[in-house]
Amino acid sequence: MEVAGKILHDSQEGPDGQRFVEVGGSEAELNSFEYALVRLMQIGFLEAYTVEYLSQRHRRFWFPRPKISRRTFEERLRAFLTETRLGVEAIERRLEPLRRASAGNPLDPVEKALRILLDRVYETVYPMRIQMLRNLIEYALSKERNRCRRLVLRSIFDDQLPPDDYRCGFCDVCEPSLAFSVPGALVPPREAEPEEIVRRLSTFFQDWSEEEADLLLSAASERGLSQAVMLRSEYYLEREGTSLGAFFLAGALKGREDPAQGALYLKRGTSEALKQGLSVDEIGPFLAELGRLGPEHLGSVLLAHPPLGGYRERKQVYEEVERRLGYDDPAARLAASLASVKLLSELTEWVEQEGVFPQLRSIKERLETSLQG
Ligand SMILES: [Zn+2]
Repeated sequence: MEVAGKILHDSQEGPDGQRFVEVGGSEAELNSFEYALVRLMQIGFLEAYTVEYLSQRHRRFWFPRPKISRRTFEERLRAFLTETRLGVEAIERRLEPLRRASAGNPLDPVEKALRILLDRVYETVYPMRIQMLRNLIEYALSKERNRCRRLVLRSIFDDQLPPDDYRCGFCDVCEPSLAFSVPGALVPPREAEPEEIVRRLSTFFQDWSEEEADLLLSAASERGLSQAVMLRSEYYLEREGTSLGAFFLAGALKGREDPAQGALYLKRGTSEALKQGLSVDEIGPFLAELGRLGPEHLGSVLLAHPPLGGYRERKQVYEEVERRLGYDDPAARLAASLASVKLLSELTEWVEQEGVFPQLRSIKERLETSLQG
């Protein structure tokens, strides 16, 4: 915001109608100034900029006259939010503050637009970076998990998926002594079906569908491809931190070896789905898988997300979980009790709001006196 103010108020006119500001400071300060310019370009405040290096700690930034147009900001933001897969309604909700921006203060719409942009950037980019680190650690730990190094790499990059029991015989996990008895890594047998799964995965990662979720999950387990599908999903999330399909498969499959880690993916997937504007019955597989990993995981999601907080929504959650895990599953029972608790508190609120409460109390008191009498 300071950068926008500086550009608007402190920039000078150059010879060809271009404007410039001079900035001095440490390498980090200069970089963060330039980073802010990039963000301002993203919302359409600036069309472009160039840098002139005056000295090591001194730069001159050139740009055309900045443009404050709410319509441009809105168009740019809508395109960006669509790209990160927010639903139409969710996008309109997020753009609302920009529409209400003050007309008197030219910097107000800029600030509102930047906030909308950065909120979504942090929601998606930051978890993605964490994911990359986590996966690097996982790869480093393949030895502890006795997972062939090539299984990891082939799962991510090949057009066919190696089965869970694949051993290349030519890496430090398969052959810790490094005295290889085979002349090269063994190639996994080529089968048509794993290729078909790869094709369907890449569609599924881009387009969430409940049926495909259930189908791919059971296909992966039945064909002994759980490891490969899980690794591929995790790798996909490194690049696309908004893919519901990747969240789901990574979470469900990871959860079988490490419930807490799996639940983490499923929780992040659930919040992302709600942000994208999906309804409770569209995210049934997420809720059921969370329940399968432990009722406490489902419970914490229900309590953490306001869109899942109402009686109607919680009852829907119960129905989704019950349909998949059975009515006597602990997670289904927990969802049912959280729904009843909510119903009770909604009723109490209604009774208080409607002012029936004092009347009820007086009836109760009269009853008590008459009983005593
Ligand atoms: Zn190996």
